[in-house]
Amino acid sequence: MKITVSAIKADVGGIGGHTKPSDGLLDAVNYTIKKSADLLIDYYIGYCGDDVHIIMSHTKGTDSKDIHGLAWKAFEAGTQVAKEEGLYGAGQDLLKDSFSGNVKGMGPGVAELEFEERANEAFTVFAADKTEPGAFNYPLYRLFVDGLSNTGLIVNKSLAKGVVFNIMDVEKAQIAKLSLWEDKPTIEAALMYPGRYVVSSIETKEGEPILDASTDRLHNIAGTYVGKDDPICLIRTQKLFPATEEAGSVFNNPHYVAGNTRGSHNMPLMPVKLNSAASINFCIPIVESLVFSMHNGKFTGPFDGFSTPDWDYIREIATKKAMAMRSQGFIHPATLVPDELEYAEGYNDRMKVVESKMKPMDDSQKTTERKENYEDPD
Ligand SMILES: [Mg+2]
Repeated sequence: MKITVSAIKADVGGIGGHTKPSDGLLDAVNYTIKKSADLLIDYYIGYCGDDVHIIMSHTKGTDSKDIHGLAWKAFEAGTQVAKEEGLYGAGQDLLKDSFSGNVKGMGPGVAELEFEERANEAFTVFAADKTEPGAFNYPLYRLFVDGLSNTGLIVNKSLAKGVVFNIMDVEKAQIAKLSLWEDKPTIEAALMYPGRYVVSSIETKEGEPILDASTDRLHNIAGTYVGKDDPICLIRTQKLFPATEEAGSVFNNPHYVAGNTRGSHNMPLMPVKLNSAASINFCIPIVESLVFSMHNGKFTGPFDGFSTPDWDYIREIATKKAMAMRSQGFIHPATLVPDELEYAEGYNDRMKVVESKMKPMDDSQKTTERKENYEDPD
């Protein structure tokens, strides 16, 4: 049976800041989905920091107007409550006044896959907050390219053949299809700068879908910078695909990602338990792991992938790395480069003052020019 799994998420308000949705907001989302549940086979609703995710199974295919419309309606209902409760950023991810067929480009993030369901279909949703879509570049590289991180790349016949990466240029909204192993260094070059190039989807060489990730970038959609788009991705696991524990363990080295307070810092991505609020200790970027089984489109789960005791140790590493980075205050690379600063207006104002005070230097103060036949030591 062909099933589509759609993971659609949006931030429509947080309690006292960008922390977590309120119970009232979640109830409104839940109620709206439940009322139209005949469109779906199954669904699950939860949150990661201030982002609410709706995971749905159905038979309407990807980019379905009905399914996207339902999610939009649910986020509108959540927004209504958020406004009534005075939540912070009420409706902030709903960038258009009315729904026009597909939530892509309208603010919410979407990851969805349509596939022939296996007898023991297994998939995991990774949902992140306080970061950007490129936050998945490093873990997905470890999972599909780095044999030292994933032995499955050696011993699993399907993975050993290599997979196909679809990598999006988020500035130009273009996608490059790059294939392992022949394009390995090209994939590495693209993944090097997660602010510009991000993994959009991954498939087997035979075209079987493995992974889809939300890749829109809000500042492109809105015309002006309105925030980093917290990513969600959906990955099928087991058999021809990575083992569930391979997909989880690539998050065990909390790497630095853009995001954090005011979307303006580099901080480590910390794996957390399901339905965690964003920390008010600088709001360290977080990622949750929702592990599902599915049969005839019915979900069992989610099992909380980052709930076992070993992840407490990883959380401690992430916290230590976060404190180490923030110990150098606002000095880059604790802060992002100017183009990436989420609230750059204030920064630009300050820099205008700096520029207005700039005076030309005397000739005697200028750096001595290199001699004509100077050679670099190396
Ligand atoms: Mg968020």
